[in-house]
Amino acid sequence: MEEKKGLKNRGYTHSDVDERREAVEKFTGTGLENISKFSFDSEKASKNIENMIGATQIPLGFAGPVTIKGDHADGEFIVPLATTEGALIASISRGMSVINDSGGARVKVFQDGMTRAPVFRTDGIDHCTKVMEWIDSNIDLLSSIVDTTTNHGKLTSVESFPAGRNLFIRFTYGTGDAMGMNMATIATEAVCKTIETHTGAVMVSVSGNLCSDKKAAAINMIKGRGKLVIAEALIPKETVEKKLHTSTESIVETSVRKNLIGSSLSVTLGANAHAANMIAAIYIATGQDPAQVVSGSMTTTMCENMNEDLYISVRLPAVEVGTVGGGTRLPTQSEALSMIGCLGDEKAKKLAEIIAVTVLAGELSTISAQAAGHLGKAHQELGR
Ligand code: NAP
Repeated sequence: MEEKKGLKNRGYTHSDVDERREAVEKFTGTGLENISKFSFDSEKASKNIENMIGATQIPLGFAGPVTIKGDHADGEFIVPLATTEGALIASISRGMSVINDSGGARVKVFQDGMTRAPVFRTDGIDHCTKVMEWIDSNIDLLSSIVDTTTNHGKLTSVESFPAGRNLFIRFTYGTGDAMGMNMATIATEAVCKTIETHTGAVMVSVSGNLCSDKKAAAINMIKGRGKLVIAEALIPKETVEKKLHTSTESIVETSVRKNLIGSSLSVTLGANAHAANMIAAIYIATGQDPAQVVSGSMTTTMCENMNEDLYISVRLPAVEVGTVGGGTRLPTQSEALSMIGCLGDEKAKKLAEIIAVTVLAGELSTISAQAAGHLGKAHQELGR
């Protein structure tokens, strides 16, 4: 089976999938009737998966509408969320309702750039210095090499990190509306060949882990990766009391003791209640790379008492999303992106803003539930 339908078998048909699944059923002694049911074109999906045998279904729901005042997302949105966690969507919807009653959420993308950081082996400190100098004096050449590999990708910055005779170079790219990881990797491989030829440094790996992809990494939390997005809302005291059944003071205290002190003591990267929940549900619904939820988990949530009203904001340093390419091509994922007007060109920043406001709503609701002592009750009633 492996040889016939193996990794090189791009563009397989529906009957290839059936045949492969039947072989797996035989091998494992497990009937895969549910896995066999799906509506998308397996030939198109062959760009997204190898050894396909069917599809996993995850329930899809929505939260909202929510009023968003972003530079790219402006208006009311119903947000698609794929999850198996009961109570999650109810909680996010509650947060959105409170945000709406407070006039909506302001949100902004502050930074946008995808990184790849290869590691080179040099002869030692002096060689390392020469390589760094060569790179600094040849940025235009490196940019022109990037342009030969992609139409939308642009080299925007190059930073060097010497360590012994290792040299890490962190390349940052504008990637248009693609999340950009394939684009950045292909461009970086091309650039590295030129660096090797001119300097004698040897590229050991195109990813030297200073990128840093799919790892909880302080470098991304501080410098950002993908889109750095901040969302905020001011919730009037009366709304806090009436709709969240607690007080601004209690929410701020919960946020400080839990998000700030608790996260600091546990040495968590980021300080939030459950940002990864919202990010995972939107990423799965809209065809993002689910492994990049790890970067979203580095969100910082901040709550302040402003004249007894509640100011709440979230900083998402690494929203690695796209509205073209990758999993966005699949039909259910495309439909989910279309629900929020985020399919295709000129939409990636809009998607990032909608994600940040959804995180804000989920954080508001959960921190408030904890401040009011309602978290366990909600999960017991809705999730069991
Ligand atoms: P991609 O689907 O590999 O590339 C995006 C494609 O869309 C490019 O061919 C690009 O053309 C084209 N494009 C058309 N309109 C565009 C627009 N408006 N903006 C940007 N591009 C546009 O996607 P990717 O975002 O680079 O990579 C995402 C995939 O990488 C995901 O499947 C993810 O799981 C995977 N991934 C790869 C790595 C890795 O190391 N390679 C790591 C993590 C994840 P041009 O290039 O000509 O502009």
